[in-house]
Amino acid sequence: MKTALVCGAGGFIGSHMVKRLKKENFWVRGCDLKYPEFDANEADDFVIGDLRDSDTCQQIIDRDFNEIYQFAADMGGAGFVFTGNNDADIMHNSAIINLNLLGVCRKRKIGKIFYSSSACIYPEHNQMDPDNPNCAENSAYPAAPDSEYGWEKLFSERLYLAFHRNFGMQVRIARYHNIFGPFGTWDGGREKAPAAICRKVALAHDAGEIEIWGDGKQTRSFLYIDECIEGTLKLTRFNWTGPVNIGSDEMISINQLVDMVMKISGKKLKKKHIKGPLGVRGRNSDNRMIFEKLGWKPELPLEMGLGKTYSWIEEQVQSSQKQPKTALL
Ligand code: NAD
Repeated sequence: MKTALVCGAGGFIGSHMVKRLKKENFWVRGCDLKYPEFDANEADDFVIGDLRDSDTCQQIIDRDFNEIYQFAADMGGAGFVFTGNNDADIMHNSAIINLNLLGVCRKRKIGKIFYSSSACIYPEHNQMDPDNPNCAENSAYPAAPDSEYGWEKLFSERLYLAFHRNFGMQVRIARYHNIFGPFGTWDGGREKAPAAICRKVALAHDAGEIEIWGDGKQTRSFLYIDECIEGTLKLTRFNWTGPVNIGSDEMISINQLVDMVMKISGKKLKKKHIKGPLGVRGRNSDNRMIFEKLGWKPELPLEMGLGKTYSWIEEQVQSSQKQPKTALL
């Protein structure tokens, strides 16, 4: 039986990866500070542990797994990453997780590990024009990410590449672009734009209004979770290090994203633009390299993924409103 370790298995992408690996009959160990919040854990062995602690890393890496996926990070959407208030935690916690994991992987002579980097590593100056951002893989240097989150991801990419160069460890690095879907954080401050917009629309009364951070003209692309998992498995199982973009190239503005969610919901709402943390003006996944190397790129139209996500978030909103007051205390 093949074995896999999923670090960050209690999070959004990690819990979806565990489910997919179980469908493929892997024996799976997960590790996280917490169990998945919105769904049952499907890992065969789930270690509740802190990966900032090297002993936890030694405990979970007790064999050479066929596949290791590293998703654990202190992260969130714009409201968490772009305010500046969480920078020290973001950099310290995520860097130390990667340092610990790689140190133990080296000691245990681990063959291969996947690392989830981010589109946030790309230089801000290449993403000022909302209609024409440059996120080609080779545009990462000279480096100038617009957040400490991006700098930490870039540092960790380099760390993984150095372990590959110096110790022959096989590493796979993906730069994810805005992954979304059901069973992800949708409330509480760490949620990302698609989830936040679905929640606001689900909460609004028809003909009411919702608040949008900024003028809504900033552009992004959003990748549905199933396609993220597919691309990640393809990269991990292919003989190539990356770093490579895993994202959708269906770029839209935030205003258009809101319109799409309203259409799905059947509600007509007014957009109220307010001040908020924003990030770069434009970003889109450049999928030329992944297609050239793996002969694959994501194809699912945004509206289809958004439909599934909206239905799930609408259910969460409704069931949270039905809870008796005592349960919320
Ligand atoms: P998530 O926050 O849902 O999952 C991360 C998990 O890591 C959480 O469950 C968290 O509890 C866990 N974790 C944090 N600190 C830990 C620690 N010290 N010990 C053990 N576990 C710890 O995030 P996600 O959306 O699933 O993202 C997974 C990875 O992909 C992250 O590294 C993230 O930076 C990267 N990424 C995600 C996106 C996206 O759009 N979701 C985009 C780019 C990159």
